[in-house]
Amino acid sequence: MTEEGYKRYRRAYLLLKKRQDKGLVKFTYNYCRVCGLEPDGKTQPLNQGPLRYWDADDGWCIGSLCMNCWVDVFDAKPQPGDHAYDTRRDLLDDNVNTDEDESLALY
Ligand SMILES: [Zn+2]
Repeated sequence: MTEEGYKRYRRAYLLLKKRQDKGLVKFTYNYCRVCGLEPDGKTQPLNQGPLRYWDADDGWCIGSLCMNCWVDVFDAKPQPGDHAYDTRRDLLDDNVNTDEDESLALY
């Protein structure tokens, strides 16, 4: 991992940890909304959710994510040129996939 990659991972991890400590994020067997990983809880760590993130195609989403995908998306923001930029489709629309209370992702 490059130093830049490590710093990015660390920022994503600390943000997640803060949300865990507040009880806003929990471990889950729910599949990762980005890559589809269904953790077995043995060889793969559990996913975590609910997490809110920006998807260039789908807009704001709430879902369970694996750590790799969280590192990829944790700081994504709407950008001109994103398919979903014009609509900025709102949360709690049809972009929600979590087995926890999705409103936790909004705090
Ligand atoms: Zn994933």
